[in-house]
Amino acid sequence: MNMMKWTLGPALLALSQLAAAKPVNNTKPLVNDKALQDAIKVENLYKHAENLQAIAYSTPGRNRVAGSTGHDLTVEYITEQLNALDGYYDVELQPWEGYTQTYEEISFTVNGVVYEAQVVEYSSNLTATDVPLVVVPNLGCDATDFPSTVSGSVALVHRGSCTFAIKSQNAKAAGAIGVIFWNNENAGVVAGTYGGILDDAVPGGGITQADGEALVALSSNTTLTTSLEIATVIELVQSNNVIATSKYGSPDNILFLGAHSDSVAAGPGINDDGSGTIGILETAIQLAKYSTKAQVKFGWWTAEESGLLGSTYYVESLSDEELLKIRLYLNFDMIASPNYILGHYDGDGSEFGETGPAGSAEAEHLFEEYYESNGLNHTATEFNGRSDYGPFLDAGIPSGGLDAGADEVKTQEWVDQFGGTLGAILDPNYHSAEDDVANLNEFCFGVMSKGIAHAVATYGASGFEGFPERETAAKRSVGEGTKAKPTHKYPYRFPTIL
Ligand SMILES: [Zn+2]
Repeated sequence: MNMMKWTLGPALLALSQLAAAKPVNNTKPLVNDKALQDAIKVENLYKHAENLQAIAYSTPGRNRVAGSTGHDLTVEYITEQLNALDGYYDVELQPWEGYTQTYEEISFTVNGVVYEAQVVEYSSNLTATDVPLVVVPNLGCDATDFPSTVSGSVALVHRGSCTFAIKSQNAKAAGAIGVIFWNNENAGVVAGTYGGILDDAVPGGGITQADGEALVALSSNTTLTTSLEIATVIELVQSNNVIATSKYGSPDNILFLGAHSDSVAAGPGINDDGSGTIGILETAIQLAKYSTKAQVKFGWWTAEESGLLGSTYYVESLSDEELLKIRLYLNFDMIASPNYILGHYDGDGSEFGETGPAGSAEAEHLFEEYYESNGLNHTATEFNGRSDYGPFLDAGIPSGGLDAGADEVKTQEWVDQFGGTLGAILDPNYHSAEDDVANLNEFCFGVMSKGIAHAVATYGASGFEGFPERETAAKRSVGEGTKAKPTHKYPYRFPTIL
């Protein structure tokens, strides 16, 4: 989408500046907080949700995964809604192409006992029946770590020190046909990635630390025999980000709001992240009655579920100069979870110790005050970069957002604050076929969508006056933090390379 930047000659550039200077219809009133919040109606949010679900169910996959018809139709839906607003927004599609793993299945059995396992991302397929499982001493980062008995066998390798890819390449060089990685921390089944398709690696899976230790102990007095089956589908897909830019407000002071437009393959993704997609879409629609001092931009990111691929691509496509114009990025990923919390990213680091660049704390405080002014309890959630604000943070852009919860387990403290089910995860239908319209919590959806409108109205009207100036370098700090991190049902949202 930056092709223009390189091909415009001086004459054309002057023309484009003339075009930009042409006054837009300035008769619209400046955005008003209460009016914009009041314009966000739960019925409209649900109408969009029904439409996204109908889109998913109209396709064979019954999902909206990046690269699928369901996702393409989602992009078309968002674009049509925005283009119906009398040209209030410039709506652009940014094409993206990449490999995503659209299917995975693993079965790992040792001496007749089935172990919980997860496929290493970008693993190829394997069917191995009754072959030896050989424990590899050390960490498998050196070719010499692998005993000759590994040939024709599945290698059992400890996680740590070097990438899964290196360990797998060493295993293949030693003649192994597959590899199982056991975790080096008590954080569930290890979800690794090879970081791309590798010809010189063997198929791989991950298991827990406890299972790995038990198998190593067992191997000292028993011969281990395994059956390992791994099936994946990895596809090169073409997809699009949608970027909508308001024609109002200062293009040097941009408020950017984002949500991901794709679902996982398992289901229609109506809470994850249909809810965030809809929350910012309905806000964009209602904003079109008003003018703003800050320019407001919206991004609907593709391939978030494959590792923030669309948003990363977008951020990398901007020049340093363009990045500096973004005063704040706000992210909305799952804002209607059935066993919800009223969360806001911990931008000031007061709970989990990790702050964002200057401005992130202010964004968090805006949402805290929003909840409090409505007499609502609220809680900070980990500012760990595991959604589309990650690449913006990496580029030094202050970030914030609302979060109703994914696979975190509900604590007593959260039950006291928000009600709901103790010990259940915040979205029990997370990444499943049941993440449909019935999965949405209406109250939470309304509160958080109005919270989006509040942020847009506040920064839109102030033009970021009094807001911290942009810093040129990313400044995150890691401090103490007072709160224990929540327990997740799944150990990692995205596969890790180490
Ligand atoms: Zn999501």
